[in-house]
Amino acid sequence: RDTYIEKQFGRLNDMQREAVFTTNGPLLILAGAGSGKTTVLVNRIANLIRFGSAHGSKWTPREVTEDDVKALRTAIMTGTDAPSWLDGMLRKDAVRSWNVMAITFTNKAAGELKERLRRMLGGEEGDEVFASTFHSACVRILRRWAEEIGYPRSFTIYDSDDSQRVMKTVYKELSVDDKFFPVKSAINQMSRWKDQLISPEEALKTPARDTKGALAAKVYAAYEKKLKEAGAFDFDDLIYQTVILLSEHEDVREFYQNKYKYLLVDEYQDTSVAQFRLVSLLTGPEKNICVVGDDDQSIYRFRGATIENILNFERIYKGTRTIRLEQNYRSTSNILNAANCVIQHNTERKGKTLWTKNGEGDKVQVYTAENEQDEASHIADVIGQHLKEGGHLADHAILYRMNAQSAPIESYFTRAGIPHKIVGGQRFNDRKEVKDIHSYMSIVANPRDDVRLRRIINEPARKIGATTIEVIADLAAQQGISMLDVISHADQYAKLSRAIAPLFKFWDIYQKLQESLETKTLDEFASDVIEITGYRAMLEADAAKGHEDAADRLQNLGQLVNNVKSYCDQHGEEASLEGYLEDIALISDIDSYNESADQVVLMTIHSAKGLEFPYVFLIGMEEGVFPSEMSKYSEADLEEERRLAYVGITRAKKELYISNSVTRMLYGRTQRNEPSRFLREIEPEYIEETRSPVLEQRSRLGGWGSGYGSDTVPGGASGYSGPSGWGRAASGHGSGYGSRSGYLNKEYNAPMSNSRGFGSDYAGRG
Ligand code: ATP
Ligand code: MG
Repeated sequence: RDTYIEKQFGRLNDMQREAVFTTNGPLLILAGAGSGKTTVLVNRIANLIRFGSAHGSKWTPREVTEDDVKALRTAIMTGTDAPSWLDGMLRKDAVRSWNVMAITFTNKAAGELKERLRRMLGGEEGDEVFASTFHSACVRILRRWAEEIGYPRSFTIYDSDDSQRVMKTVYKELSVDDKFFPVKSAINQMSRWKDQLISPEEALKTPARDTKGALAAKVYAAYEKKLKEAGAFDFDDLIYQTVILLSEHEDVREFYQNKYKYLLVDEYQDTSVAQFRLVSLLTGPEKNICVVGDDDQSIYRFRGATIENILNFERIYKGTRTIRLEQNYRSTSNILNAANCVIQHNTERKGKTLWTKNGEGDKVQVYTAENEQDEASHIADVIGQHLKEGGHLADHAILYRMNAQSAPIESYFTRAGIPHKIVGGQRFNDRKEVKDIHSYMSIVANPRDDVRLRRIINEPARKIGATTIEVIADLAAQQGISMLDVISHADQYAKLSRAIAPLFKFWDIYQKLQESLETKTLDEFASDVIEITGYRAMLEADAAKGHEDAADRLQNLGQLVNNVKSYCDQHGEEASLEGYLEDIALISDIDSYNESADQVVLMTIHSAKGLEFPYVFLIGMEEGVFPSEMSKYSEADLEEERRLAYVGITRAKKELYISNSVTRMLYGRTQRNEPSRFLREIEPEYIEETRSPVLEQRSRLGGWGSGYGSDTVPGGASGYSGPSGWGRAASGHGSGYGSRSGYLNKEYNAPMSNSRGFGSDYAGRG
């Protein structure tokens, strides 16, 4: 195994090796896409555990001669065995695997880290390294210490749907009008505040800019109170409350600082203020903190990530060693150059240029489609061709700006029988029947969870009406107890006298579920939930009545039980209801992506961060789609979109296909979009362009489009056929968009409620 590790070290370039062997003190690795940042992170952990913290810079002061060092260095560089006598000596300083914590953003990335560590260190040691996402790390901490900040250890984790339900209740109680200040805006504002570690008290104290701001602070405070009463955290709370816990409780803080002596953070450019604070609270006095990131790939500013965290690292951690990597190992030079071209247009960046020895490769293939179906069919053709040549489906990823863009590809692929997997979108755990059953399971785990209780108290229908539910909620609030407490003593409240029978029936169901949990295995319990609550009977009755989706829903519940079973198989003795619920709460989009199956992967660029694929299709490269409509009014937003484009392009190893479409149906409207400015920013020498045969034919017949938007794009002249010269096909097209009026067909008559008002512009021309 050690030989294997050394072979891995031998593969590294000088700068990477320096980063790996810088074992102590603050370390910042700042480098572009595909330059081996994550690779360095994994190798660095392996080095710490295998060869210890003395390996590297602090090496010579030990009782080892120059020659010994040389011998070892040669061994490492050439990948041959290290002199065995050195072995024992080195291990004296070895870091124990459970002293290392590695944090990253997605579960997928965390899983990959674990897998690579297992490969390097072997199963046992590899598994002992705590590699996790920010959120899971916080859940783990809170499960142990939540009581210190007034929450139960068996807390529930609320997803965005639950949050909205809570907020709606708050609105009702405070008589806030959703039309005046939408619930979603309140939730967003609250989320920003938590990202910035602003408490409800502080938000209330800060003079608000307007009525809405004041309202936001008020509902924030009420919302937090509700969650605390319910013993629940939402996603932002997981981080925010852990920060509070660690800041306020020195003993807890010291516990973790002692436990995790080495801290490593991947994708550091996307950390928020709260995450930054969390990392610094976890960092012990030795400051063994290593962060890895790329300012050009910062794509979560809209969610509160702050690039300052990277820029300030050196200032905050004195004596930081900064290492830059410039060689890209992932992509061909055509792909890399295309990425460089695009990102160069950002002004707000620490300039760096990546290079590669991977060879030129094919040019970036740009395809202009007639519409989104044509785009889908073109992609299917390309993939089909690759398969004929012996390629694999799973080597292909289709990336897009917005989830909604997956729909046409999905429907085309389904019809064409191309196996594919959508990451994100409507997830299994978001389906109504699945959420309902999970809600039952949640209230058994946490009887204080009123939000989930409300969700299922009358699902299936059991004659517990909305009025009764409000009465129960009021009674609970008055006495400071949970709704379930009220239900269990329903006969003691005059106001509930008419609902006693159904409420007791519900209480009876609840007790049966509790008993089932205590006496049976977790998957049997899940089956019982479906039976005892009458959920299965309800769906079977629906199916008998001819409800089409009832059978699907029954099947989904079968799948749910299977999922519980496989959770149990994975966790053995440690399986618990809380653990299962935690798992599903933390599963993010990316996790439904199963790498072993041979399927084309569809996902947003945001989800693809840190991943790589031999063949990447970047679709919808159009103004108004990517960059998005919203971003076009702010330079900062545009730069974020451009970084996103950079992330998308740099996912590709061998070949990159970019497509744009002349018309696109999105959110039920047909839009006409010009090719994205990001496409135009790529130098023509790296591109090969083709157009849909239908477009070619049309332009031969009528010729239209030399003025393709050139007076609607900022910086007009460089429009589609502008001086940059890309877009061979655009040149020589007729006089104006409108001249295609001769080919008007149904599609062109479709309402063009393009939000940019381009519709009227196009219509008036030619
Ligand atoms: P991103 O910015 O996208 O997260 P990254 O900087 O983390 O990228 P990695 O994912 O670590 O880059 O590496 C990109 C690819 O290059 C991987 O396939 C990795 O195995 C390979 N690689 C990294 N370093 C080397 C090296 N020294 N020799 C050969 N291949 C390498
Ligand atoms: Mg990476």
